[in-house]
Amino acid sequence: VNLFCTPKCVFYVIFILRSFEWTFINLNQNRVPMSKLVLILNCGSSSLKYQLIDMENEAVLCIGLVERIGIEGSILTQKKDGVEGKYVKEQPMKDHQDAIKLVLEGVLDSTYGGVKDMAEIDAVGHRVVHGGEKFASSVIITEEVEEAMRKCSELAPLHNPANLMGIDAIKAVLPGVPNVGVFDTAFHQTMPASSYLYGLPHRLYTEYGVRRYGFHGTSHKYVSQRAAAMLGKDIADLKIITCHLGNGASIAAVDGGKVVDTSMGLTPLEGLIMGTRCGDIDPAIIPFIMKKENLDADGVDKLMNKESGVYGMTGISSDFRDISTAAAEGNQKAIDALDAYHKRVKKYIGAYAAEMNGVDAIVFTAGLGENGIDDRLAIASNLEVLGVKMDAEANNVRGKETVISAADSKVKVLLIPTNEELMIARDTLELVK
Ligand code: AMP
Repeated sequence: VNLFCTPKCVFYVIFILRSFEWTFINLNQNRVPMSKLVLILNCGSSSLKYQLIDMENEAVLCIGLVERIGIEGSILTQKKDGVEGKYVKEQPMKDHQDAIKLVLEGVLDSTYGGVKDMAEIDAVGHRVVHGGEKFASSVIITEEVEEAMRKCSELAPLHNPANLMGIDAIKAVLPGVPNVGVFDTAFHQTMPASSYLYGLPHRLYTEYGVRRYGFHGTSHKYVSQRAAAMLGKDIADLKIITCHLGNGASIAAVDGGKVVDTSMGLTPLEGLIMGTRCGDIDPAIIPFIMKKENLDADGVDKLMNKESGVYGMTGISSDFRDISTAAAEGNQKAIDALDAYHKRVKKYIGAYAAEMNGVDAIVFTAGLGENGIDDRLAIASNLEVLGVKMDAEANNVRGKETVISAADSKVKVLLIPTNEELMIARDTLELVK
């Protein structure tokens, strides 16, 4: 009482308050930053898809797309859930750095954005297409990681350089914010040599890395984990075949949560027939058409990647909606292309069921997998030999997480919308936490 009744008490009070302040500052300095807002970037050579996700509740705050980067007519379009209309910026963007500056303006927008201040963005997750054998999981991006990604560019010349451009641009615009790389190839790194080795001279593998890598890994991982959750089982006890059927398409055999085989190979050209990609062909066709059509390596590469698939087979479109419409109108090429497409998927399902000595669940995902009602039915019908029995009524649905096989089907067939961005955001948060 004496103490606080004297004029000295002012000094004591100040001393106590300052002590509190010092303690608070020190606590804050020692605090491990808990990242919550994660920006996800998916950079293509002239495009950039992005999402801002609040990882506290995994809510997408805004979502956008930049197109025509580095070419005339650059445009950014952004949407926010629950808000009418969209945010559009049409102005020249000479490179990815220009585009990312506009992305950050977009996410700061008071109507369509998700943050008030750039400093609120805690981390950036980058989709990286090729991680080669170097990356079996996501990583914080350092100089060394960038160097390793650069080395993988040879294996993904269209994609990895664009991903690196995105990383450089973020480092320039958001210095100090951690960047995480999430690789399309990483989930497939559990494949045994019997799945990833080709019947080629071994030195091509050791000298140039010619082997199967597999792609869409983030999607296959997400839907296989969701499948286990939907079935209420531990993924370690399940044999799952995941069918990612989009414009690019691949299948994976996931045994006990680990990929044991997948249909895409050294590049995303192998495997299924796709929108514009041929998938599996007799390799002898390549020198044959090179000679016949006087094509060089780039010419034949373009033919197989951009002029083939259902587009090349029909001459109509790479979009399965157009092919289905044409088939319904009796166009024979469209009917044949769809039949060939469905048969190829079925063939892989059979192969992977044999490889895993059984299958508990088949998952359909991505554009066609989520929306192609007739396609799913065509692929998974007449598979009773594997224990698959579809329920046509349950299958009559689009883009919704649900079981589409009959109640008495031994193998569960599931429709699971993929969410690669959320998977990237989860890995990013996990690494920077
Ligand atoms: P993605 O690459 O996952 O975006 O998938 C794109 C592809 O999904 C498109 O090229 C279409 O062929 C297919 N797709 C999207 N919506 C539908 C639909 N409603 N019916 C059939 N196919 C669809």
